[in-house]
Amino acid sequence: LNDLKYVCSNCNHTTKLDESYPRCPICNEPLNVEYIEKGKINKNSKPSDPFWVRYKDFYPYLTKDYGISLGEGFTPLVKIDYLRNKLNLANVFVKNETQNPTWSFKDRGSVIGVINALRLGYSQIGTVSTGNMAASVAAYGAKANLKTTILVKEDMAKEKLNPIAIYGPKVLQVKGDYAKLYDKSLKIGKEKDIAFINSDVPMRVEGSKSIAFEICEQLEFDTPDYVIVPTSAGGNFRGIVKGFIEFKNAGLITKLPTFICVQSAGAAPIATAYIKGEKKISHFGKTDTISPAIGNPNPPSGNEVLRLLERYNGLALTVNNDQIKDAHLELAHYGIFTQPAGAVPLAAVYKLMNEGIIKENQTVVMIATGSGLKDTKAFNYHNLTSSFVSLDDLDQVL
Ligand SMILES: [Zn+2]
Repeated sequence: LNDLKYVCSNCNHTTKLDESYPRCPICNEPLNVEYIEKGKINKNSKPSDPFWVRYKDFYPYLTKDYGISLGEGFTPLVKIDYLRNKLNLANVFVKNETQNPTWSFKDRGSVIGVINALRLGYSQIGTVSTGNMAASVAAYGAKANLKTTILVKEDMAKEKLNPIAIYGPKVLQVKGDYAKLYDKSLKIGKEKDIAFINSDVPMRVEGSKSIAFEICEQLEFDTPDYVIVPTSAGGNFRGIVKGFIEFKNAGLITKLPTFICVQSAGAAPIATAYIKGEKKISHFGKTDTISPAIGNPNPPSGNEVLRLLERYNGLALTVNNDQIKDAHLELAHYGIFTQPAGAVPLAAVYKLMNEGIIKENQTVVMIATGSGLKDTKAFNYHNLTSSFVSLDDLDQVL
């Protein structure tokens, strides 16, 4: 059971699952928990059980329940008939991750990351984030009663700090090069015994597997043609791919979808490398995107996303700010209000249909990563109006 190991995604060097440093000691690329080769869905799980109980064969290292679930996962797969008809697709679905406890997919990885920290005996956790992940780790740190440290940018606005600070972590606004914080926090964490649950650590990838597991169940094991993932650090993309592969290994599905990594044109290190045919990403430099949740200029899992795209015939593309704005509003008009990053897959669908890559009568699943209320600035991108009416005139106006 627990002879599972971490395997380097690049050089295959293995380390023990009780090792807490999340990157390869030889090449510094991300580690994966070894792929699960067989397993089945725990049909005896109760509706109140967390996802790792339903999918326990795929989480064999989680042998103890620390009672820290906040009800993450099991989000709806919403069918958008209007869009299906408009585009002549067989089916269009949104995996609505905005319905997680802190309103983003990050909760899946946070809960697994915190359980793993508890399993390894940590009493302190932390993360480096400016948004969804910071709030998520702070919430699970509170639930687990762990000392929690959140490292944010020096110039972070108060309205973005408050939804993190409310959970009671220590929030540190760090002066200096924010891009260096990822590595530095992992090193300090190792010295000071703080489990840093950063964007693409292996246990966060493990949490994201459950998105794929649920999609498979929700589609009654009929694999969609495309799964479109807004991609920043790369951890969620890796997790979704790993989930589909493990279900295929286990014989629960017969084929894999085509995995699509979509980035904002103004913050596209992975898509740029993919389009140029390069094996490694380069630092993107200054970013310009209306979807800051996918704005990482130097994603720590960028090279591994490129390897996965190559191995499984996936593809990467960019969409621009105007395309994101249009998709953001359109998705809201179907009743799904996401942060701009969550609408990026819809912008990608239009682009890929125009290019003849996604064809009529195919099935598409879009991952809506986080809630619209996370980014209220985005209201300003649209011409949202209301008008006044007196009580006396109401009957005429209606
Ligand atoms: Zn390595």
